[in-house]
Amino acid sequence: MAYNALYMPGSESLPMVFAAAMTDPGRKRALNEDAVSQLITSYGGIFIVADGMGGHRTGEVASQMAVAQIVDLLRRSEPSPQGLLEAYEAANEAIYLAGQKPESRGMGTTCTALWLDLPYALIAHVGDSRAYLLRDGELVQLTQDHSWVADRVRQGLLTEEEARHHRWRNVITNALGSFPSARVDLVGLKVQPGDVFLLCSDGLSGVLEDRVLAEIILTNPPEPAVAKLIKLANDWGGPDNISAVVVTIGSQVPQNPRPYALPLEASGGQPVCLQSGTDPEVLTTQIVEPQKPPSFWQRWGNLVLLLLWFGLLGFVLFNQFGGKSSP
Ligand code: CA
Repeated sequence: MAYNALYMPGSESLPMVFAAAMTDPGRKRALNEDAVSQLITSYGGIFIVADGMGGHRTGEVASQMAVAQIVDLLRRSEPSPQGLLEAYEAANEAIYLAGQKPESRGMGTTCTALWLDLPYALIAHVGDSRAYLLRDGELVQLTQDHSWVADRVRQGLLTEEEARHHRWRNVITNALGSFPSARVDLVGLKVQPGDVFLLCSDGLSGVLEDRVLAEIILTNPPEPAVAKLIKLANDWGGPDNISAVVVTIGSQVPQNPRPYALPLEASGGQPVCLQSGTDPEVLTTQIVEPQKPPSFWQRWGNLVLLLLWFGLLGFVLFNQFGGKSSP
């Protein structure tokens, strides 16, 4: 476990960010296919959770490749939504190519990353690992799971509780390295003093309820928080690999201007799904338009035209034949 903090310039007593990351194989699996990373930087930091999949150690390879590549690219870039997307695309391509070997077929990984550019937070997400934000005592899930059960929950076909126990709960619908180009959700927001971010794999969020996650990160600093989260998931059986990264924002937040649009802001509060190769700022401004209800003509236009057509036909036929028989 690594532990780190970033202090206000000139003040060693006022941390702006403090964080801890931990991963554990759990109680049932021999291998740990999860990978985590945290790196404090001069502007904030880079925090990632990845949960690999594939046969015979390839899940382990995929999650570690994703974390190593993305950290390496982000640490050499200026923070921006575009930079985050490009790092995901590069990692996707590398894992996809590595997965073309016969022994690595099916290799892929979830990947949820927080790029903290104080006072802003950029989050990129693929798969069913999660990013949460605890603000004013309330836990909000910032990412949407790309999974079979989450799709059913969004459609109202399953409840959260049914999803948690469903036999297909581990089936994900999007992974880094599974397709030639990445499908990445981006979220952006402005942080507030006291905000706490939690990144975790499904070995944590699938075992502990949100209210337990909230309770622990609300009442503990990052280092004991990650240790307690992992211990509790193991106490509840530890059925899967468990990873947690907790990032706490201090009481002082620098107020720097930013040269980019925040995806969440631009899309009116909805996470924005970006396809490989699109410019986040172009795409988000397209999404800002709220969905208008269909107009009268969009909804009924065809029916009205059909009725007019029958009316005309009836009129012509009546004049043609009906008219003749009348005296
Ligand atoms: Ca997992």
